[in-house]
Amino acid sequence: MQSPVEPPLNTAANAVQPGHLYVVATPIGNLGDLAPRALAVLGGVDAICAEDTRNTAALLNHFGLRKPLLALHDHNEEQMAAGLVGRLAAGESLALVSDAGTPLVSDPGFRLVRAARDAGLPVIALPGPCAAIAALSVSGIPSDRFLFVGFLPAKGSQRRAALEELAAEPATLLLYESSHRIADCAADLAAVLGGRRVCIARELTKLFEQSEVMSAADLPAWIAADANREKGEFVLVVEGAPRRETAAVGVDVQRILRVLVRELGASQGAKLAAEITGLKKRDLYEMSLGLGGKPEDE
Ligand code: SAM
Repeated sequence: MQSPVEPPLNTAANAVQPGHLYVVATPIGNLGDLAPRALAVLGGVDAICAEDTRNTAALLNHFGLRKPLLALHDHNEEQMAAGLVGRLAAGESLALVSDAGTPLVSDPGFRLVRAARDAGLPVIALPGPCAAIAALSVSGIPSDRFLFVGFLPAKGSQRRAALEELAAEPATLLLYESSHRIADCAADLAAVLGGRRVCIARELTKLFEQSEVMSAADLPAWIAADANREKGEFVLVVEGAPRRETAAVGVDVQRILRVLVRELGASQGAKLAAEITGLKKRDLYEMSLGLGGKPEDE
């Protein structure tokens, strides 16, 4: 019988080079998402810098690998970076991983990568899972331009202020949120960006994966309808501010609209803004919802 074809784990393209730092994406749930090349590099480096060594030990264990693990997290990265660069400069090869997904994306690693680059050492990307990009890819919300926001502030007042600041942003917004704040965050999204389309993606690649698209105004009720919907890890993909209007007349129309809507409500505010700017009332009404206006019967 013919032997099965071996995966190309040790080809020249996959070989680990001395003095290189490999930034390796790891699964965000489904371990089948660890790329063969990532596996080869994790198996080939001298040591792995890991956000939480227990987590990474469990991942390596699943794939039958054992490697020296070095804890590298937000609290020690600054101090660790110089020593790690010294090891690279001496010819060791290192990998950098975080607990899940792509390192440096709402995760540690930036300081080490910068230090390695400053020292003229090669830094090699092993791309793979990233929750924000996975959510964007299934959202059906414009993906030509997006702004990775990551976690909004934990405090309600600061979170709402951050959302208000983002209200005029035409790019799609990518937000991360945890289970204990998702309901509050949804309430703030509904209050500030009620008219926007939102995709809520939870537990991506895991057993209870779910992604649903709705208006931000409907998000709190959707979450409240089933206790399970508040569990797990979340990405929120939020449609950007309407572009046609912002491109046509710049930010001033938003400023005018914001004031009018605050004083007069969405419908009256949009009507007056239409007279002032010459833009269509219907478009301005839609835009006012994106700027925090409450939907009204026109
Ligand atoms: N570096 C990671 C990446 O590339 O996506 C993100 C790390 S950040 C500390 C963790 C956050 O990512 C979670 O709180 C959640 O918002 C999001 N996240 C991670 N895994 C996820 C998943 N399977 N489904 C949905 N969101 C996820």
